[in-house]
Amino acid sequence: MTTTHEPVLLEEAMHYLAPGERDGVFVDCTVGGGGHAAEILRRAGASAKLLGIDVDKAAIKAARKALKKEEKAGRVTFLQRNFKELPEALDELKIERVSGVLADLGVSSLQLEDQKRGFSFMRDGPLDMRMNQALGTTAADLVNTLHERALSDLIFEFSEEPFARRIARTLVEERAKKPIKRTLELRQIVERAKPPQGGAIHPATKTFQALRIAVNRELDGLAAWIDKTAERLSPGARMVILSFHSLEDRLVKHAFQYLERTCVCPPRQPQCECGKVRAAKILTKRPVEPREAEIARNPRARSAKLRACERI
Ligand code: SAH
Repeated sequence: MTTTHEPVLLEEAMHYLAPGERDGVFVDCTVGGGGHAAEILRRAGASAKLLGIDVDKAAIKAARKALKKEEKAGRVTFLQRNFKELPEALDELKIERVSGVLADLGVSSLQLEDQKRGFSFMRDGPLDMRMNQALGTTAADLVNTLHERALSDLIFEFSEEPFARRIARTLVEERAKKPIKRTLELRQIVERAKPPQGGAIHPATKTFQALRIAVNRELDGLAAWIDKTAERLSPGARMVILSFHSLEDRLVKHAFQYLERTCVCPPRQPQCECGKVRAAKILTKRPVEPREAEIARNPRARSAKLRACERI
């Protein structure tokens, strides 16, 4: 398996975030290995600062290493926290408005490659998948304790896996014999549960994705977060979001459309009473996707979609 830590859609993300056009504070909500963050700082004005957030302690450590010089120069502050708490974090830091926000959602290549974290069906490891290892519930907990119906709903809801029911039934049968504890055990069970198919993606991809989303509550509150975060952008500042599966992309798309609307009254109401104002302008009519060459170099880019909006 080829691995790369190349930041996904780097040029495109910088084009839309446009850090060269302003000073002030930029926020990288998912600092990961620090790739996008380093480029934001390289392009932004000398007095611009970056707040680098990640919920994963190991990611903060890696980003800190990558951005050692910038941290020493006082240009970057790191925060191990869930970015969904960004508005609260900005309040605490007494930052009223920011010059741009980037979120590169999902799992990093650092996380995928670390077999102890249990994110990948390519490597044997404990069935964990927690981005924040201080939190309680692991993927093994879900697989071994949820009722069959809840497990099947979870897999279907978070991955649109058409064989969710069969997979859940097989998981429940297998765990009655012995608890499912390892990534490769889960992979084999899923392979067995599904009829053979000649698809481009591995049969376990969707089940792993669904469990990871559930363990980390990745979609919870994402739309409301976009709304609250847009309020903290300076006029003209941009929010750029990279998503990696259709559910996430749909959420981002709808949240951006909501920001752009001037009225959210029920359709047949004669006069507007909602008081909604247009908060942002969408910059990407359609999502921006990586070129073939990037996908060939970087498997993480395969399903990436970028959307951007600008604060009015
Ligand atoms: N842009 C980064 C890679 C980011 S990968 C780079 O250039 O290197 C996605 C990162 O987002 C992972 O490190 C993951 O831990 C983090 N993450 C995912 N959901 C998060 C959340 N809700 N809050 C904070 N960090 C999150």
